[in-house]
Amino acid sequence: MTAGAPHGPVVVLGGGLAAVSFAGGLRSGGFEGGIVVVSDEVEPPYDRPPLSKEFQREGLPDKIRLDLSRARDVEWLRGTPACKIDTQRREVLLADDRRFGYGALVFATGASPRRLPALQDATLPVITLRTLDDAQRIRAGLGPGARLVVVGGGVIGLELAATARGLGASVTVIEALDRLMNRCASTTLAKVVAQSHLDHGVDIRLGRQVMGFEGPAIVLDDGARVEADLVVVGIGVVANDELARAADIACDDGIFVDRLGRTTCPGVYAIGDVTRQRNPISGRFERIETWSNAQNQGLAAARTLLDPTAAPYADIPWYWSDQYDLRLQVAGVSMGDEEIVRGEAVPGAKFSLIQLHRGRAVGVTCMNNVREFSSLKRLLGSVPLPDRAALADPGTDLRKLLAPPMAR
Ligand code: FAD
Ligand code: NAD
Repeated sequence: MTAGAPHGPVVVLGGGLAAVSFAGGLRSGGFEGGIVVVSDEVEPPYDRPPLSKEFQREGLPDKIRLDLSRARDVEWLRGTPACKIDTQRREVLLADDRRFGYGALVFATGASPRRLPALQDATLPVITLRTLDDAQRIRAGLGPGARLVVVGGGVIGLELAATARGLGASVTVIEALDRLMNRCASTTLAKVVAQSHLDHGVDIRLGRQVMGFEGPAIVLDDGARVEADLVVVGIGVVANDELARAADIACDDGIFVDRLGRTTCPGVYAIGDVTRQRNPISGRFERIETWSNAQNQGLAAARTLLDPTAAPYADIPWYWSDQYDLRLQVAGVSMGDEEIVRGEAVPGAKFSLIQLHRGRAVGVTCMNNVREFSSLKRLLGSVPLPDRAALADPGTDLRKLLAPPMAR
């Protein structure tokens, strides 16, 4: 048994990436006690990023299974949600009336898509995309000639729009704001992404709301009617934190955690999309809805649960997105008061962007520029900003420019 290991089994709620990563981390760290993972999904754990991309093209569920080899000797309970926790008795109640006592409890319950009330009773298929089942239903409706309407010009909507165009569907994207990807991309990046979609024949309606539907058409707030065979709604997510809230654990659309993954309740931890944590760049408590956070916060929580003196989690948030032949990678925060453009920010080009706030680098974006991404991410530490002209020049070797002083 390791030094800080909990007395009693570790019960994990949710069986997504964060849960798998955490359970694997516990075992790799030497934890020999019981681990129970409670998942409301019947499917064995799978990866979500392919659901809007490869899975739509290939339809192969076995290709997207998560690797469980590190999570040895874990009791997986699938198809039954946890419905209550009792933090006094340290007990979890499942919907099928089973009860489990815990030494430590970990919320890895993720997030759920926001719904669009205006389309609640629509007579055409309206689907959100989070689960394999959602992805299968969307896939069944895509193909040459299908008319797809995507509500929400964020990552889900745009990835799906790109994939659907590749499959021969016609696509209209309806976005409430006057730009795409407002949550997670700079204005420059959003413009390039928008132009790429226009170049691929996507009809983009910015600043528009869906008011309702008339038969096979959805009706917008400017009176336009857009005929559709399938509507996919990607208007953001809400944290699955209701059990924590009911147990008086501090939440605000997300369970508050510190850098050790601890909630405000002793013995209860949270990881992944369900958490609200301090963003090391902005300093604000935020939800960080990325694959890398689910994986690495899960691993870090396992480490610190076994050894509270282990390094706290402070990874810089980052995500990638694939749309057509664009591979975009974004780290840190995407808004600043100044931007350095390295290369030419146009569709099809390879370029990088560096966001500055009061002279400090707070965000980097690489477009089709995978090799520069890890070098540029180093700017987001506390390093002094190098010469701006050199940074903006795509001919400058970043490895030399950003090497630690001792190595120069
Ligand atoms: P989840 O994966 O949501 O897992 C939580 C699990 O808990 C779910 O199975 C849920 O059903 C279950 N659960 C909830 N409540 C209960 C309960 N009461 N009892 C039992 N089980 C419960 N990120 C990137 O960085 N790059 C990408 O390209 C990318 N693409 C994506 C594409 C799609 C279509 C989606 C949906 C997400 C994508 N993401 C991407 C985001 C990334 O997949 C998520 O950040 C990550 O899956 C979060 O993992 P998680 O384990 O915290 O939550
Ligand atoms: P999002 O927050 O990225 O984008 C939602 C978009 O919908 C925003 O542009 C918002 O302005 C718009 N919107 C909100 N309400 C609207 C309305 N009523 N009508 C029209 N537009 C409206 O969320 P998402 O794209 O739904 O993604 C959901 C989750 O999936 C997120 O957690 C995301 O991180 C994850 N995801 C990530 C990736 C990636 O990182 N590559 C890819 C897919 C999904």
